[in-house]
Amino acid sequence: MAASIEFIQGDITQVAADAIVNAANSELEAGSGVCGAILKAGGASIFEECRRIGGCPPGSAVATGAGTLKAKFVFHAVGPVYHGREKDVEQLASCHLKCLDLALVKGCRSIAFPAISTGVYGYPVAEASVIAVGSVHGWLLNHPDGVDRVIFALFDAPTFNAYRSAHETRLKMVEQEKKRRAGG
Ligand code: ADP
Repeated sequence: MAASIEFIQGDITQVAADAIVNAANSELEAGSGVCGAILKAGGASIFEECRRIGGCPPGSAVATGAGTLKAKFVFHAVGPVYHGREKDVEQLASCHLKCLDLALVKGCRSIAFPAISTGVYGYPVAEASVIAVGSVHGWLLNHPDGVDRVIFALFDAPTFNAYRSAHETRLKMVEQEKKRRAGG
């Protein structure tokens, strides 16, 4: 079965998925935004585990248990603080890829991402959505049976619309490329 990419508008802590992705900082400390919501819904044990791990560089991710969340794991993905550099693009893509690799290693069939870096870290949503969705599409091409479901849980309507539209644009491009190849 081909994996599905789904979009929901709402609180990521309420999504039923094997792994929930946290928009973490490199110190892996509890903060505001997604971090705060995960702490509130999942409890302090998640961040005690983070303290033991000690930190994670931008562009990567680490796994912990999920406390009282329904998920099996929380993957703490460290996105870049936005500066408009090429490195930001690479780090935003690679933290998504690292989470998908962790899903594979941990045997997770479903994984939910928030809009990493688009809150306190200031990444423009229009750009972040294309990078995030593109990295998921790319990973799924390379790992067709890697997971069953990738869910993007977006808090507000503009972010939800941007991510969904990045997905639709990507699908159209793939379709056009298929037609072009068939024609040529
Ligand atoms: P970052 O520091 O990586 O920018 P934030 O947590 O500040 O991370 O925000 C990332 C995105 O997650 C923002 O679009 C924010 O609106 C959104 N967000 C905040 N709380 C939640 C939540 N409970 N569920 C899903 N998305 C959330």
